[in-house]
Amino acid sequence: MPNLPSAGGDRFVLVTEVGTRDGFQSEKEFIPTEVKAELINALIDAGVSSFEATSFVSPRAVPQLADASQVMDLIRRRPGVRLTALVPNARGAERAAAARVDMMASFISASETHCQANLNKSIDAAIADFNEFAPIAHKYGIALRGAVATAFGCPFEGEVSIDNVLKIIGAYMEKGARHISLGDTTGMATPPVVTRTVEAIRARFPEAIIALHFHNTRGIGLANVMNGLALGVREYESSFGGLGGCPFAPGATGNICTEDLVYLLHECGYETGIDLDKLAAVARRVQEVMGRDLPGQYMRSGPRLKLTSIDSVRRAVG
Ligand code: ZN
Repeated sequence: MPNLPSAGGDRFVLVTEVGTRDGFQSEKEFIPTEVKAELINALIDAGVSSFEATSFVSPRAVPQLADASQVMDLIRRRPGVRLTALVPNARGAERAAAARVDMMASFISASETHCQANLNKSIDAAIADFNEFAPIAHKYGIALRGAVATAFGCPFEGEVSIDNVLKIIGAYMEKGARHISLGDTTGMATPPVVTRTVEAIRARFPEAIIALHFHNTRGIGLANVMNGLALGVREYESSFGGLGGCPFAPGATGNICTEDLVYLLHECGYETGIDLDKLAAVARRVQEVMGRDLPGQYMRSGPRLKLTSIDSVRRAVG
């Protein structure tokens, strides 16, 4: 088994960077393979220890991530750094294993309509695909992660059934995937929805290790994190600069921003092992690569005690 980071003390929060998968996936213009690897390597240097690095879906379905194997090759491995990749089926699992991923993530929507729209299959068919590739992960000694998309609401169906969420997690746990990630795919989570969902999962599956994946679509992504922390959740997924969402859909917003999240965690006394200055520098580099401003705010403002000289302000006004 690879050396996986685990939530050590109660003050340690594991931050999983999903920018190169969730963030880049919706970008139309191809981002060079070397740049993707460069960004991940820079984040490893900044102390980030968990990544959803890429996806082994069909290269035709997501051309942006067709270079998954090459990206994995260019990443400078370090003990304690977990490289996860999305895997849709047995074929993807074989490719992911050959690329030496540390963890394979399955992805199933709790909403039947979203599952059809996104994966082009039913929830049951997606579970069947997972059941087929899980033994491949076991064969290679690779850990499994089960992601539930639209876990807090579906843009087509509204509230999702908690029974669907529990059914999918049950299927994951049955095949040895204890790491469960709850995706707020279109930013419909609110603190009460998160509380009731996490509590229902814990009641049924107390051994599940829950991670929360929020999008900032309605501006309360970090409020949901605060609520998750109060619930004892110690793993969050976020994207550098807050990248994500379709750049061509007006008002669409991305994942919660990694630097803003880490800033909040450190200010609240949590440990992440991440150097915030280096992290912010990577986010500015991502802006440069994308050629546009990203929603992340810490990279612009800096630490709260970065003081401004009063003289410089007077001069600016005068
Ligand atoms: Zn997402």
